[in-house]
Amino acid sequence: MCGIVGYTGSEQAAPFLLAGLAALEYRGYDSAGIEVLSPDGGLHGVKCAGRVATLQERCATANLVGTSGIAHTRWATHGAPSDKNAHPHLDCSGRIAIVHNGIIENYRQLREQLLTAGHEFASDTDSEVVAHLVEDSLNGPAHGDLLEAVRIACGRLQGSWALAVISADNPGQIVVARRRSPLVIARTGDGAYAASDVTALAGKASTVIQLEDGQVARMDKDGSVRVISHDGTLVSRPATYKIDWDASAATLGGYPDFMAKEIAEQPEALERLLADRLGSDGIRLDELDMTAEEAATIDRVYVVACGTSYHVGLITRTAIETWAKVPVVVETASEFIYHDVLVTDHTLCVIITQSGETADTLAAGRKMHDLGAKVLAITNVVGCTAARESDGVLYIQAGPEVCVCSTKAYTAQMVAAFLLALYLAHRKGELDNIQVAEKYQELRELPDIIREVLKRSWQDRVAASEFEGAYSSLFIGRGVNATTAAEGALKLKEISYLHAESYAAGEMKHGPIALLEPGYPVVAVVPRDHWHDKTVSNIEEVIARGATCIAVATDGDADVAALCNRVLWVPPVEDEILEPVVTVVHLQMLARYVALDRGCDVDKPRNLAKSVTVE
Ligand code: GLU
Repeated sequence: MCGIVGYTGSEQAAPFLLAGLAALEYRGYDSAGIEVLSPDGGLHGVKCAGRVATLQERCATANLVGTSGIAHTRWATHGAPSDKNAHPHLDCSGRIAIVHNGIIENYRQLREQLLTAGHEFASDTDSEVVAHLVEDSLNGPAHGDLLEAVRIACGRLQGSWALAVISADNPGQIVVARRRSPLVIARTGDGAYAASDVTALAGKASTVIQLEDGQVARMDKDGSVRVISHDGTLVSRPATYKIDWDASAATLGGYPDFMAKEIAEQPEALERLLADRLGSDGIRLDELDMTAEEAATIDRVYVVACGTSYHVGLITRTAIETWAKVPVVVETASEFIYHDVLVTDHTLCVIITQSGETADTLAAGRKMHDLGAKVLAITNVVGCTAARESDGVLYIQAGPEVCVCSTKAYTAQMVAAFLLALYLAHRKGELDNIQVAEKYQELRELPDIIREVLKRSWQDRVAASEFEGAYSSLFIGRGVNATTAAEGALKLKEISYLHAESYAAGEMKHGPIALLEPGYPVVAVVPRDHWHDKTVSNIEEVIARGATCIAVATDGDADVAALCNRVLWVPPVEDEILEPVVTVVHLQMLARYVALDRGCDVDKPRNLAKSVTVE
């Protein structure tokens, strides 16, 4: 989490740095800060607890003049969100400033050593040790060479970092480094830019250098970039990627918030992903880098992910087991990395991560890779760590997702997983050409069905009123839509701070039914599928206890209409496995309306950040 930016060049640094922070704010927003090298030869900065907007207000009167600088928007791991813990952090002389994304795991030992050596600390963060280590190396073994000083300092760190460092004694230079936290660099006619991800650079550059783990780079004001590896050797051809998002993709474009925009973008995102995927030999997933023989012999699949992507994993399991008849284990990455797994010569591991930088998911992928499994990533960000570390990658092509709570990436990840499941089913001979073509056609119908659901957002607007005064809520469903219920509850919790619990509808009687009382809101996902009648019985149980039931149901379902207080209608979907792509759209809109009614910032919910780069 956290966003960092840096710039050195011929233009004033502060405008880009502040705009870049605003673009990266979804990565963290509990405090922010900026440091610029001013023409008087000193570093000048502003930092404060709160949002980037607060920093921007403070900067308006701070007269930050200078053409080199670094900035940070924080998601605190060590030390409370406060003015003093906001980045950048300075060394003892105040002539070196650093910003950091990640966790320095050995910061306690380093801090002790540095304190003993006479350094003075101004914050409670783990990050500040870096400023003092660079101070020591710059004045010592690096003999004033900032690139070398940062490389030496990184050699003493354990944990994860993306760093940007500026020194008043090395004017015109920014040194950046990374290990397990993302960082990209862009070279342009007016200088060199660094950022946690390309969102901050869209419109500035069309290609970026993606720094690899262990690498350190010096950016100079003429736009040149020198990359070295952790042992000091020059990297002559750093990894370079094309930015395929235009700047407008990360702006509101007339929508009231990014969540509204991203919900509305779902049909186009799915169309992009689905375009031209059917060849003469089944589903085309050339980017997977998997031979037909490899696919045919896969005998077990692990799907590992976190949060919303974990819910995609649950749907992926149903699709692969139903269509390809291969057993699938799904697990949250933070648990998966700590226990034994059974890997055969034909085990496939699918990691799902929107940002491609989720620390736990990356760790799971590495573990499976080391155990000999083939690892595939389903991700949204071209050139991300998950893509680079995996044997194959399926990009969901959803475009930048700025709202912290995932919507379009969720549905696009599901559709990507369906394509993968069809691909495996075909290669394993479980579905023939015609069956695959039929399923592909059903997938292609989903964007228009979602368009229809989007037109019905007024139903969610009205249903949101049922949550007024609620202290908790329950989401139920069966089969694939038990997962939709879980995703709906997660959305509601994330952005409205109203407690929401999800349960498989049939399990409700084993506990959660005790919660029900008159007016208690229960959301039941009950489209016409083979679980329908059983779920309707569970709705009867809800109604019998006086609770308020809001159902997501298929057009024309008179039983559900007669029973429930509100119905969020969806058009029918041919294959029930595909239904979650449609039913979840109502729950996204419902969560947004409930959150707005409760006065919440739907794009930036408290305590959360989008790209979870710490374990
Ligand atoms: N660990 C650092 C801190 O708490 C950086 C956190 C981040 O990545 O935002 O300040």
